Amino acid sequence: MPSPALVLVDPVTGSFEAADPGAPHLRVDDLAAVRGDGIFETLLHRNGVSRALEAHLSRFANSARMLDLPAPDPQLWRSAIGAVIDNHGDADEIAVRFTLSRGPDGANSPTGWALASTPSAAVLAERSNGIDVLALDRGFASGTAERAPWLLLGAKTLSYAVNMAALRYARQHDKHDVVFTTSDGVVLEGPTSTVVIARGRELLTPEPSSGILFGTMQRELFRAASDAGWTCGYKDLSVQDIVTADGAWLCSSVRLLAAINSLDGRALPADPKLQAEIKALLLQ
Ligand code: PLP
Repeated sequence: MPSPALVLVDPVTGSFEAADPGAPHLRVDDLAAVRGDGIFETLLHRNGVSRALEAHLSRFANSARMLDLPAPDPQLWRSAIGAVIDNHGDADEIAVRFTLSRGPDGANSPTGWALASTPSAAVLAERSNGIDVLALDRGFASGTAERAPWLLLGAKTLSYAVNMAALRYARQHDKHDVVFTTSDGVVLEGPTSTVVIARGRELLTPEPSSGILFGTMQRELFRAASDAGWTCGYKDLSVQDIVTADGAWLCSSVRLLAAINSLDGRALPADPKLQAEIKALLLQ
């Protein structure tokens, strides 16, 4: 398996250079490390194509706007991502995580880097085996995203400690993953994924304005599904909508699709034909 590759990106000079991923590069007062004050994206480079690259760059720019970070130069990041993929070496699939931090405390000089690695076996297993999930309260009510923009709901920030804690909680309860809901029971997203359900020939996902990330893979899935004659839409969903759906998935860049086998211990229908059809839409 090829080893990870790293490029350090200097947004101030507009340059980047390859670096040793095993060596230290970040200052201990970097605000990414001490406050989670920065943004990131993770994309999948598969069979020679960086999937949804432009959608990732555009969400990166939107996250930067929400955090009052300097606008990332898309050409600089495109080139840095291309370089780190080249440096990683041959692999069918490469996950590229690119990050922009506010930089060292008080320096007013952002830090950037892109790291390429091979997706873990666990992620690939969830693609084929599906997952058991828990519904967990994210602790805010519907409408919070508009009422409280300082919560940065909808930005992909480095502050993922809550998301990781939710995943640990699920694993302590013998589940693989989580579906977050608002305190009034509206489905939001997974800690690292978008929720998609199928009802007949319709695919549905929560409204992106509800305080969630606008998923790049969900949008790719909807594009391919619309072309194949599915109706696709954005709608408030409940946990009951998931367990009564014909199929439901957590969808994200590296894992692509993981079928939800059960939610809070309630089994969802196992329909191999539907699963194969939806998977083919995203893999085509
Ligand atoms: N929601 C959250 C909180 C995420 O972290 C992610 C991806 O990491 C997603 C949704 C799915 O986004 P994408 O399909 O762009 O990977």
